[in-house]
Amino acid sequence: MRTLYVKFVVITIGIMVLSSIFAFLVSNTYYQQKLKPYNDQKITKIALSIAAYTDGHSDMDLDEYLKNISTIGYQIYLVDQSGDASFFGEPFRDKLLSNIVKEYVLNGNIYHGILQFPQETFVTGFFANELKNTIGVPITHNGKNYALFLRPDIKLLFNEMHYLFGWLIVLTISLSIIMVVISTKYLVKPISTLTTATKSLSNGDFNVAFEITRHDELGELSQSFLRMARKLEQMDDMKKEFISNISHDIQSPLSNIKGYINLLENKNISQEERSHYVSIINSEIRRLSTLTKQLLLLASLDRNEDIINKKRFNVGQQIKELIRNYQWLISEKNIMLSYFLPDIEVIGDPSLLNTVWDNLLTNAIKYNKPDGSIEISIEKKQESIFVTFKDTGIGLNHTELERIFDRFYRADTARTRTVEGTGLGLSIVWTIIKLHGGHISVNSKDKEGTTFIVELPR
Ligand code: ADP
Repeated sequence: MRTLYVKFVVITIGIMVLSSIFAFLVSNTYYQQKLKPYNDQKITKIALSIAAYTDGHSDMDLDEYLKNISTIGYQIYLVDQSGDASFFGEPFRDKLLSNIVKEYVLNGNIYHGILQFPQETFVTGFFANELKNTIGVPITHNGKNYALFLRPDIKLLFNEMHYLFGWLIVLTISLSIIMVVISTKYLVKPISTLTTATKSLSNGDFNVAFEITRHDELGELSQSFLRMARKLEQMDDMKKEFISNISHDIQSPLSNIKGYINLLENKNISQEERSHYVSIINSEIRRLSTLTKQLLLLASLDRNEDIINKKRFNVGQQIKELIRNYQWLISEKNIMLSYFLPDIEVIGDPSLLNTVWDNLLTNAIKYNKPDGSIEISIEKKQESIFVTFKDTGIGLNHTELERIFDRFYRADTARTRTVEGTGLGLSIVWTIIKLHGGHISVNSKDKEGTTFIVELPR
C-alpha cells in the first residue's frame, strides 16, 4: 500500500495546477478591469496625437510618416472616403472591418475597438492580431479625410506586458507556497500526534488516546501504535499485579510461621498441640519452597529458550512412571484412575514435560470430587501427539476458564481455599508447551469436570 506516496504526488500536482489557474484568473480580471481600459486610452491618445500632427503638417508625405510610426511597433490601417486603403507595419491576421465602422470614423468619431473587444481571456483578447482590435481616429491631411486604425504590434505588446507576466509568476509561486504549507501540515499532523504519544509513553503514561482515521501508511502506523500502547499497559499492570501477588504469597506463610513459633515458645502447651503447630510450620515452609521453585522456573523459562534440552524419549512411559509416584495420593482420595498410554516417542525436554504432566495430574487429583475419576490418554495424529487429562472434578465456569493460565490466578477461592496451591502451575505448563511449539486447550463444565488436551509436535 503506497497511498501516502500517491497522496503526496496528487497533492503536489493539484497545488501546481490550482495555483496556476487561480493566478491566471486573477491576472485576467486585472486585465479586463484595469489594463484593457488603460490600454485603450493610451492608444487613443497616441492615435489622436498622430491625427493632430498630420493635420498641422500638410507638406509632409503621409505614407512616409505612417511607415515611420509603424517601425516603432504599430500596425496601421489607413482608409479614405473613396475606399482607398493601405497597411503599414506588421500585417493583420484578420483584416475584417465593417464599412459602418469605417464610415463612423470618417464622420469624425473615435472607434474603441480594443475596449469593445469580446471579454475573453486576456491572451486571445490582448494579442488578437485583428483589424477589429484597434483604435480608429479620423485624420485630415491636405484637406482630405481619412480613417486611421492603430494597434501596437506583438513585440511592443510583449514589452508592455512583461510586468503582468511577472505578477502572474509571483502570484503562482506565492499561492503554491501557501498551499504547500497547509497541505504539508495535513500530511504531517499524525506524525506530531504520534510523537507526543511516544513521549507520554516513554514517561510511563500508557493511557494514550488519539483519533487517526486515515486510510494510509500513517493511519496503519497509528493503529499499530495504539495496539502497542494497550499491550504495554497490560504488561505493566501484569508486572504490578505479579509483584503484589508475590509479596502477599511470601508474607502470609512467613507471618503464619512467626505466629506458630510464638505459640511454641509457651512452655505450658501439650505435646499434641506442639506437634500440630510444628506440622503447620512445616506445611507453610513447604508452600514457600514450592513458590520459590516455581518462580525460579518461570523466570528461567521467561529469560530464554536455551534451557530446553531436547531429546527423543517415550512419553507414555514417562506418564506411567509419574502415575506410579502419585498412586498413594490417588488411593487416599479414593479416585478411580484409568489410562491408555501406548509407547509413543516425542522430541522434547523430558524434565520440563514431566513438570507439565505433574501439574496436570496433581490438579486433576486436587480439584477432584470424592470418589471421582481421572482418565489419561495419548493419541498420535499426523505430525502431532495429543495428551489428554480428563477429570470428574469441581470444574470451572466460563470466566474462570479464561484466566486459569494467568500467573497467580486461582479460581473460586471458596472451593480452592482448602487446596494447597500457588496459581503458578498452569502458567508454567502453558509456557513450557509454547516453548515446545505446542498448544494446550481446556474444556470444562462447572461442577462436572475438566479436560486438558496438550498438543505437541513430534
Ligand atoms: P494451583 O497452584 O492453584 O493449582 P494452577 O495454575 O495449577 O494453580 O491452577 C490455577 C487454577 O485453575 C487452580 O487454582 C484451580 O482453581 C484451577 N484448576 C486447575 N486445574 C483444575 C482442574 N483439573 N479442575 C478444576 N479446576 C482446576
